[in-house]
Amino acid sequence: MHTIFSEGVEKLKQDVESFMEEFVYPNESVYEKQLNEGNSRWSIPPIIEELKNKAKQRGLWNLFLPNAHEETGLSNYEYAPLCELMGRSLIGPEVFNCNPPDSGNMEILLRYGNHEQKEKWLKPLLAGEIRSCFVMTEPQVASSDATNIEGSIQRDGEEYVINAKKWWSTGAIDPRCKVAIFMGKSDKHALKHEQQSMVLVPMDSPGVKIVRYLPVFGYDHAPIGHAEIHFENVRVPVSNILYKEGKGFEIAQARLGPGRIHHCMRAIGAAERAIELLCKRAKERIAFGSTLAEKDVIKEIIAESRIEIDQARLLTLHAAHKMDSEGAKAARKEIAMIKIAVPRASINVIDRAIQVFGGAGVTEDFPLAAHWANARTLRILDGPDQVHLRDIGRLELKK
Ligand SMILES: Cc1cc2nc3c(=O)[nH]c(=O)nc-3n(C[C@H](O)[C@H](O)[C@H](O)COP(=O)(O)OP(=O)(O)OC[C@H]3O[C@@H](n4cnc5c(N)ncnc54)[C@H](O)[C@@H]3O)c2cc1C
Repeated sequence: MHTIFSEGVEKLKQDVESFMEEFVYPNESVYEKQLNEGNSRWSIPPIIEELKNKAKQRGLWNLFLPNAHEETGLSNYEYAPLCELMGRSLIGPEVFNCNPPDSGNMEILLRYGNHEQKEKWLKPLLAGEIRSCFVMTEPQVASSDATNIEGSIQRDGEEYVINAKKWWSTGAIDPRCKVAIFMGKSDKHALKHEQQSMVLVPMDSPGVKIVRYLPVFGYDHAPIGHAEIHFENVRVPVSNILYKEGKGFEIAQARLGPGRIHHCMRAIGAAERAIELLCKRAKERIAFGSTLAEKDVIKEIIAESRIEIDQARLLTLHAAHKMDSEGAKAARKEIAMIKIAVPRASINVIDRAIQVFGGAGVTEDFPLAAHWANARTLRILDGPDQVHLRDIGRLELKK
């Protein structure tokens, strides 16, 4: 398998890389400082909007959307090195308007939204003016099996009435979040995979109550956050249905292919950042008479890390190529494989870097601890490991 990119993609790679060096990394601490200085950690640090404007002006915008970018029209394979670069920083993806869950939500709207829905929600999302959330998971049921979802969507004349307890709705607390893509059951008597629908719910609808934020290993992920939300007799017009009643499961499946592969691309970027930091630190830090880098045991963990990153990247590019050439459905085994292999590799590499940093590694002075916490969640969200392993095993047995 070759990993050569066109001249256009190489140029974009250089542009994204320079942008990261010049504007993103130096402003990570500014972002954190502004968050702490504001009235609350749930208000938007001005630096992020400044950076978004800069990226937009340079055409480094919405690159995740296959063929949406007229000049570039990137495939998943071509987007991989760019997404990886963005993933090196926790604020990177948003700067380029390529952050989840908005990127996945924009893809849904593009593919399944009607003209009015696109005008109202997709346009401002593509412009980075508003944000959105994806509301599926529920505390009371095992949500890795989406057929368990209980939240109800009941038709009442020309409106739907929505009742549900949801949690882990990423982005819902962000004051810029204006719309939720809500998944619930609209017909309990339909076939198992046709009971669910997706409905657009404006976040200011009466009855939408953000109950609390959910920290990740103590990180609040402000100002974006993950919310528990209760929907109490929320009413939306029937025209807010996405695609058709009973198509929620189908839409969720379509969303997950690109969503998972993008998570993996970013996780490789996080691992690259970690190995780079690890090497720099190992060259500078002296213990027991020599730098850490001079010790064979450290060389060994650097080597293990390089092997794991490159394996993870090749597997991801392979999955991306298969998605591009045969579609997400045909590539489901490859997508499941990277969803297992890449978070594992990324967690291993970041963990080794933390070890080499000693006490400094677990502080917020370096991005390692935050990246580790993020990478660890990838073994749970968008399908936990066990479900992907089951699917890979099943497909292999079938073969
Ligand atoms: C940081 C973060 C962000 C998230 N963002 C969103 C979001 O924006 N929107 C949203 O709707 N959800 C979101 N989620 C929720 C996430 O998608 C769910 O947590 C995930 O799907 C698992 O569902 P669950 O938590 O109900 O776990 P459960 O379904 O209860 O599963 C628990 C465990 O059971 C085991 N298990 C499950 N099935 C099997 C099986 N077949 N065989 C063996 N073992 C099995 C696995 O170990 C699994 O981890 C987010 C989660 C996190 C942590």
